Amino acid sequence: MQVVPRRLSFFVMIFFSDSLLAGKVALITGGGTGLGLAMARAFGAVGAKLVIASRSSEHVEEGAETLRAAGIEILPLVCDVRDPDQVETMVGTAVGHFGRVDVLVNNAAGNFLVRAEDLSPGGWKAVTRIVLDGSWFCSQAVYRCMKEQGAGNILNILATYATGAGTLTVHSAAAKAGVLALTRTLAVEWADAGIRVNAIAPGPVDTQGAGSRLWASDEARASIAEKLPMGRFGTEAEIAVVATFLVSDAASYVTGTMLPVDGGLTLGKGHLASIEAVEHLLRPRD
Ligand code: NAP
Repeated sequence: MQVVPRRLSFFVMIFFSDSLLAGKVALITGGGTGLGLAMARAFGAVGAKLVIASRSSEHVEEGAETLRAAGIEILPLVCDVRDPDQVETMVGTAVGHFGRVDVLVNNAAGNFLVRAEDLSPGGWKAVTRIVLDGSWFCSQAVYRCMKEQGAGNILNILATYATGAGTLTVHSAAAKAGVLALTRTLAVEWADAGIRVNAIAPGPVDTQGAGSRLWASDEARASIAEKLPMGRFGTEAEIAVVATFLVSDAASYVTGTMLPVDGGLTLGKGHLASIEAVEHLLRPRD
């Protein structure tokens, strides 16, 4: 039977030492909900101190509450990543509080389904400003601190359509592809400052945010699962565990890469008919 890891603390405990990120400070944008909160919980479970930031004080306060209950030291901050001044203040406050920032996860995003021909200039701007501008402002803001420390890690949360095609999400696909370019360019340009820059492209994970905006029905969910070679959605734990690896010293020689964590979605199911449909054509073993 296939194992589907869901219980994050159990999952992290099995694979990593509980001091893997001891002494490190991680700043996660959009860290109060969904995948951001799962990554915060995973990093905290292996010793990191956390800063989580997003627009809604409710999101970050509620997220912080659940992490504190797990014994994690955490600073929740309100910040709109579209505004470079707010981003500077967020990073300054994090450094003032914890003395350093070792890890930045550019996870904040907005998305909605729309036919490309119907997308308004405002809709295009809303998504590209959060995803592309926001990731850039945050990366540039942590650079100075990481350079001074002589080390740092930036992890960008993309989507599989950063390299493939994202039907009904041209705004998000273009923005995520831009962040992939940031990932590669900054990995090369900032390598001599000791900064690694990587990305994860998650497949579908049924978070409250993504679910409500991108599928929102059992029928839509089933039609997505049908396209996946592994035939199922990922779990928050499966993304968080890979993120933990990438921002840790276990990945010390990994930079400029995008790792799909997608149940095979990026590869697709192959171009021929399903095996069941061509069973009669299969040659038996000699
Ligand atoms: P989510 O819970 O809706 O996460 C989005 C987060 O971004 C929220 O916490 C939101 O908080 C924050 N945010 C939005 N606009 C912001 C802004 N201007 N400034 C600061 N924070 C902002 O959805 P999720 O599924 O966990 O998605 C997390 C990441 O995974 C995103 O980058 C998404 O593109 C990526 N991803 C998810 C899936 C999936 O299937 N779940 C698949 C591929 C990629 P506020 O509303 O409080 O600002």
